[in-house]
Amino acid sequence: MTYPFPDGRLFVGGEWQSGTGPEITSTFAADGSENMTFASASRDDVLSAIDRARTAQADPAWRNLRPHERATYLYRIADGISANIERISWLQSRDTSKTRTEAHALAGSAAATFRYFGAVLETSDDLMTTPRGAYQSFSVHDSIGLVSAITPWNSPIASDAQKAAPALAAGNAVLLKPASWSPIISLELARIVEEAGLPKGLLSVLPGSGREVGNLLVEHPDIGKVSFTGGTSTGRHLAHLAAEKLMPISLELGGKSPTIVFEDCDEDLAIAGVLFGIFSSTGQSCIAGSRLFVQRSIYDRFVARLVEGAEALRVGNPFDAQTQVSSMVHADHRASVEGYVKAAREEGGEILTGGARPEGADYSQGAYYLPTIIAGLTNQAHTCREEIFGPVLVVMPFDDEDDVIAMANDSAYGLACGIWSRDHPKCWRLARAIRAGTVWINTFKQFSISTPFGGDGASGMGREKGREGLRAYQRQKSIYEDHSGRPHPWARWP
Ligand code: NAP
Repeated sequence: MTYPFPDGRLFVGGEWQSGTGPEITSTFAADGSENMTFASASRDDVLSAIDRARTAQADPAWRNLRPHERATYLYRIADGISANIERISWLQSRDTSKTRTEAHALAGSAAATFRYFGAVLETSDDLMTTPRGAYQSFSVHDSIGLVSAITPWNSPIASDAQKAAPALAAGNAVLLKPASWSPIISLELARIVEEAGLPKGLLSVLPGSGREVGNLLVEHPDIGKVSFTGGTSTGRHLAHLAAEKLMPISLELGGKSPTIVFEDCDEDLAIAGVLFGIFSSTGQSCIAGSRLFVQRSIYDRFVARLVEGAEALRVGNPFDAQTQVSSMVHADHRASVEGYVKAAREEGGEILTGGARPEGADYSQGAYYLPTIIAGLTNQAHTCREEIFGPVLVVMPFDDEDDVIAMANDSAYGLACGIWSRDHPKCWRLARAIRAGTVWINTFKQFSISTPFGGDGASGMGREKGREGLRAYQRQKSIYEDHSGRPHPWARWP
């Protein structure tokens, strides 16, 4: 079954209109064919969306909604995503070359995210705080106003939901800019949001260049908060712009996450987990376990089995239900991954498997790359320090707990970590010692919307998801009210 693509109009302040910016093309990288080309958002389109968002957000009909009333919009959006899940996942597979199974799971998680933040909103309380005098004191939460959400291409529907759901729940208006390589799915989300009856202007979807549209969505004086997911250098640049305005910005950035395999692990579980951790999503995952440390006593055997497992992975078209490793998102991105593997070879790395494009007619037009395992490098190598964002794993031996903690933490990034061992106290010691926003013990890439997610260091700042995820889109205000009826003694009056 195939589905029609969106008609190429943008969702500007609740109105469908053609963009007035340069053309943008979405391609199906698995065979190089074009999905659609349309005019992206220009500066004027963004200014018009901001204008309409300001009016819509200031309307008491939105701002003063009771939590349970506002939550109904989020539940309706969630229902709309669920009802259209086949269409959304098909479009996402076309737009990003993600396997159909993964695209389906991401759309399901987006629906769950809207439901969750509806429920969080309904069950979040303001605080009456303990007074230290004859007054009452409260801590209440208000909306911020206009929120810009800037998302990457690797999991668009899930990233969009993780930002739009809590931001709308908190009573804001949202200006969403998807990545130029994956513009379709956010427009599809806009259609669902419109059908859910969200008042016009509260969501705009503005595909367009990062440099123009993205920058304006950060710099504009009316924007009160930015939620960004993407690369570390872009995040750092946006953080500077936000600092100029003293505006809150949350940054979900890149990673170079360690996976640690101890000699006392269940090797079958660890091999499956390591393969999934790096090669699912074709390695285009911020939390990919791309640095593997294996205890020296089992290193040779474990790595040999891992290579066997990698070579058994099915590389193929995202619409084939058997495919485990699909095409990369774009031929240009594959070229970047190829550049890293070339650099690894030049640094003395030994390619144990992969390191090339798959051969054959099925692959010749697509942006495919074989699951690649590299040995013979130290943790200091360029390949071990930079995020590759592709199906490339570097393996290194370690001797003991202290040794591996030092190597795992010797990275600019701090996003995730995997630990494989049957020794639970040791797992906990490591989980606490390693700098990472998320640690998985005897599992990898598990997610729950109720569990906060984010990174440290070059992996970003701030957390998404979880009950506190709503607070990231609110202003907190303290209110004191005196009940004594007496003048302040300092005035000595009357
Ligand atoms: P990117 O190049 O940083 O782009 C991310 C978004 O920022 C896109 O919408 C992009 O627009 C926009 N952008 C680019 N330059 C901009 C600028 N100067 N001002 C404002 N916006 C700008 O990252 P990507 O290649 O799309 O995504 C891959 C990166 O995302 C990886 O590093 C990955 O680790 C990270 N990521 C992190 C998480 C997490 O939760 N920590 C999750 C997923 C991905 P254009 O597409 O138009 O350039």
